[in-house]
Amino acid sequence: MHPGSPVSSDPSPDVVVVGGGFAGSVLTAKLRAAGFDTHTLDHAERYPDAFRSEKLEPDQSQLLRKFGMLDKVSPPDCELETVDTFERGRVVTCHYEDHFGIRYDDTVNALREAARDETRWTKARVDKITSDAHGATAHTANGDAVRGKLCVIASGRPSLLAQSGVEVDRDPGLTSLTFGFDVEAANGAPLRAFNYNSESPGQDHAHYATLFPIGDAWRFNVFTSWSPNEERTRRFARQPIERLYDLFPRMREFTGALRATTRVQIGHTVWHRVRRPSPNGVVVIGEAYQSVSPATGTGLSKCLTDIHVLLRHLSGWRQHDCVPGSAIDAFYQDPEKTAADERSSAGWRWFHDCAHGRSLRAHLRRSGLFQAANRIAMMGRTALRRTS
Ligand SMILES: Cc1cc2nc3c(=O)[nH]c(=O)nc-3n(C[C@H](O)[C@H](O)[C@H](O)COP(=O)(O)OP(=O)(O)OC[C@H]3O[C@@H](n4cnc5c(N)ncnc54)[C@H](O)[C@@H]3O)c2cc1C
Repeated sequence: MHPGSPVSSDPSPDVVVVGGGFAGSVLTAKLRAAGFDTHTLDHAERYPDAFRSEKLEPDQSQLLRKFGMLDKVSPPDCELETVDTFERGRVVTCHYEDHFGIRYDDTVNALREAARDETRWTKARVDKITSDAHGATAHTANGDAVRGKLCVIASGRPSLLAQSGVEVDRDPGLTSLTFGFDVEAANGAPLRAFNYNSESPGQDHAHYATLFPIGDAWRFNVFTSWSPNEERTRRFARQPIERLYDLFPRMREFTGALRATTRVQIGHTVWHRVRRPSPNGVVVIGEAYQSVSPATGTGLSKCLTDIHVLLRHLSGWRQHDCVPGSAIDAFYQDPEKTAADERSSAGWRWFHDCAHGRSLRAHLRRSGLFQAANRIAMMGRTALRRTS
């Protein structure tokens, strides 16, 4: 079935997937390969030019390769083999394999093409999901309904969850704000991929900047814990290069003069996670399950881990007429999944605490304990010199 066809739920699929973005597309393809009858619903014909992940990290490429899908998304000229990291004036050069710059919309649309083949895929907005002991039903905005033994919500944003009886924990204090824009060297000189850590993270609330190629373009991502409505956010969006050098004063030594060649895109995320237990027959994966800070580079890893773990558990559900609640709990409690979720949240908290001067070192510095500890250490060293 092609996008835009009327919704048909006859015969009922095993699995209804709501959302055909990164997670929904990969899941649909893998379910089909495992012999499950699936029906995927997404409200957009094509994934739009939205600001999401612009890199495929090595662990993510490796999982996609394991799924047999890496060749669908990785143009060979975008590989990031060598990346310099600048930290307090020092440079460390790292070498990578399977590390790519990507256009998210192109990547998702390529995965979608691969997933649509031989599956039911319909363009429809889902308004809510209802469930009972035997399965779950996705209700679309135009009044259609698709029922399956299991409904997987892969809608990216958590807005659909409240209408579907899925409760969410939120932390409005844990936020991230990312800028993205293309640049070129003012003198036309070649650029090099790098990461540049904040020189004063406790003061400017910035984490790091990263410059990398995507196709012919050079792309900056700048990660902060600013909020969308403050003046410094608006100023950065208006004058990205000037503000970049204000934030990272020594960066100019490495890049030379730069020119922005596109408008600045801004991505804002706030921490949330699905609270268990969820309704019968409903599973939430990817960003809809738990948001990520882009600075951690863990969003796609979490999507792929969710899919990997879900597929493992699904094989055990196959012979049942419905998916028991205990089986869904087993998915949510799987150690591989919980470790990936926790790693991602811990990374976010770490960046946030550093940016707000709440790292252990910054705690000590602020409380005066750092100076006191230094003085004691100095007195100790002086005493040692005197006695030797
Ligand atoms: C600025 C930014 C930078 C990032 N950088 C990185 C990075 O460097 N590395 C990394 O790993 N992660 C990064 N992330 C996180 C990563 O992009 C996300 O975790 C990932 O894109 C989530 O994929 P998903 O499939 O859950 O959602 P999406 O890919 O957004 O898919 C959701 C799909 O659901 C559909 N949908 C939504 N609602 C409905 C509905 N009601 N009915 C039908 N369809 C619906 C949408 O049309 C869409 O196709 C970044 C995120 C942002 C915002």
